[in-house]
Amino acid sequence: MFPPSPQPPLRVRVLRSGSAGNAILVEAGSARLLVDAGLPAETILKELDESGLAAPLTAILLTHEHDDHTRGVVAVARATGAAVLANEPTLRAAGAALAGAAVDLFRSDHPFRIGPVEVTPFVLPHDAAEPVGFVLASDGLRVAVACDLGEVTDVLLDHARGADLFVIEANYDVRLLAVSAYPWFLKNRIIGTRGHLSNEGAARAAVGAATGAPQTVHLVHLSEVNNLAPLARDTVRAALAAEGLGTVRVEAVRPNAGGPWWTPAVVPAPAG
Ligand SMILES: [Zn+2]
Ligand SMILES: [Zn+2]
Repeated sequence: MFPPSPQPPLRVRVLRSGSAGNAILVEAGSARLLVDAGLPAETILKELDESGLAAPLTAILLTHEHDDHTRGVVAVARATGAAVLANEPTLRAAGAALAGAAVDLFRSDHPFRIGPVEVTPFVLPHDAAEPVGFVLASDGLRVAVACDLGEVTDVLLDHARGADLFVIEANYDVRLLAVSAYPWFLKNRIIGTRGHLSNEGAARAAVGAATGAPQTVHLVHLSEVNNLAPLARDTVRAALAAEGLGTVRVEAVRPNAGGPWWTPAVVPAPAG
């Protein structure tokens, strides 16, 4: 019998992603964090159960107040005892969606710690009160999460550059969106600079964040109508390859489904 393999220092799994709801699980040492909880609580609790966590959830970090990111927050927090963390504009804008939850406030651009994890919230361009992405750093590893956003900004690239895992929105393919049955006002909202990110936008972000070091990109929040997972993945892969960055691993998480676990590549232990 082999001994059980030790728990990796940091692991991440997109539980669900897309317009029907978003939740990303990050486990690092003694901390188990959810970035957003935008699904029915039963779905999230079932996913957490099946994720084999060593202990209950520690905290839920909110990116913004939209329903597909906040739907299950109150019930999941109640069921698990997890703290809920958001910035003040998000808390105010969420209104009833967070009613009854004890929310701890953070300030965007002010790093804070949850156990072994340093969390840095940074502002993203999106049509919400004060939407943020997060950098989660632990044990020398960094994960950057950016979803939802309308365009690639310097702030985003400054935070995502060199991240071991970069979780970035790839909402739509411009051609599929152009021919889709969505009403024009909705298409305008999506393509706006405070809307959602296209596959080409995700590709620009992935290229801008790449340093040549081993990195992984998980594409999330894919539209079920205006995108296809292989198309999103291949668009980003091609852009990286064109810049000589073909070693970056790219996975597209299918809409309204879970993604694979990400764990850091095995680093050889130093001799002696
Ligand atoms: Zn949103
Ligand atoms: Zn969303």
